[in-house]
Amino acid sequence: MNWETKMSAKVQAIPPSGIRKFFDIANQIPGVLSLSIGEPDFAAPDKVCEAMKKSIDDRQTSYTANAGIIELRQEIAKLFHERYGLDYDPKDEILVTVGASEGLTMALLALTEPGDEILIPDPAYVAYPAAVRAAGGVPVFVPTYAKDDFKVTVEALEKLVTPKTKAMVIGYPNNPTGTVMTAEELAPIAEFVKKHDLVVMSDEIYCELIYDDAKFTSFAKLPDMRERTIVLNGFSKAYAMTGMRLGYICAPREGLAQILKLHQYMIMCANTQAQYGGVVALRDCKAETEAMRQEYDRRRKVIYKGLVDMGLPVFQPKGAFYIFPDITCTGMTSAQFCETLVKEEKVAVVPGSAFGEAGEGYVRISYAASMETIEEALKRMARFVAKYRK
Ligand code: PMP
Repeated sequence: MNWETKMSAKVQAIPPSGIRKFFDIANQIPGVLSLSIGEPDFAAPDKVCEAMKKSIDDRQTSYTANAGIIELRQEIAKLFHERYGLDYDPKDEILVTVGASEGLTMALLALTEPGDEILIPDPAYVAYPAAVRAAGGVPVFVPTYAKDDFKVTVEALEKLVTPKTKAMVIGYPNNPTGTVMTAEELAPIAEFVKKHDLVVMSDEIYCELIYDDAKFTSFAKLPDMRERTIVLNGFSKAYAMTGMRLGYICAPREGLAQILKLHQYMIMCANTQAQYGGVVALRDCKAETEAMRQEYDRRRKVIYKGLVDMGLPVFQPKGAFYIFPDITCTGMTSAQFCETLVKEEKVAVVPGSAFGEAGEGYVRISYAASMETIEEALKRMARFVAKYRK
């Protein structure tokens, strides 16, 4: 049978992940130091693991409510109330999902008509355009630039908005650049969104990982934005719970009802054990998150200094656990840089081009790795950059 004629053209048009492709190259080389992974190098807090074990001992092995256990939805509501003064009704404005990934996918499936255009600041997390395409939408990439610390501007958005534009997906703190947009910086974006009557999916999964004097606010907190924002979040980064697959959506009830319907049919509910762990994470793990944040911060400073010392132009990231230096001084494309670096120096980082056209000329380095790994990788990279600098 010819699968090409059978499988959806829409899905075949989705390119394979540039990150995955690069992992596969790196994985074939033994002894590689990896600064390429987008997940914490910590384990989930003990308290979370204990709560998950207890839920098994208590034989809580059935499905939960489709929207998630009410205790968890209440904790999420409490968090948004305390932190942002935003009120979401745990009854019908919060949906517990299988990671932020499910939230993104379901939100886009529920929102998108064929041909709808969805604005995505570029470079972007690789799943955004893939999920837009899978939902039948058209990703419209909005370039951002190092001179603006990769913050999206209204000028760039205005150039690309059309009557077909339905929504925008934003993610701050940002993967891959580490940039954070403050409430003041987002205010004009919110006005743009209102002017063009758009929905915003705000991926806030790195919201706990903020450094220096940067201040993060949920996009829903901006004037008039609660009613048009779908907040996506999850436990993977703040609580090092990637494998537990737990996330959530907060959104106005009319929107959430449609997303919940898809979640009911396609997913049923997030993993029951993870949900019990999630309650403890939100209730009781602030110190653990803060300890991880401080450790990332220490590494961030070391890696920033290391890159500056080797003469690579780079802005100091204020969030997440990525840094995004400019490697054009080597005369290589970002993919050539990464392939040569891994072969010659056994250091794996990810080509900026994997995150969109605006990422070309940069590489994404993750500092979710031990200080020892970071220090050794920096030494090797310095040697490499010195060798190839034009
Ligand atoms: N959004 C961003 C920006 C991410 O970097 C990731 C994980 N790499 C996700 C969402 C997915 O997170 P989850 O594990 O909650 O599905």
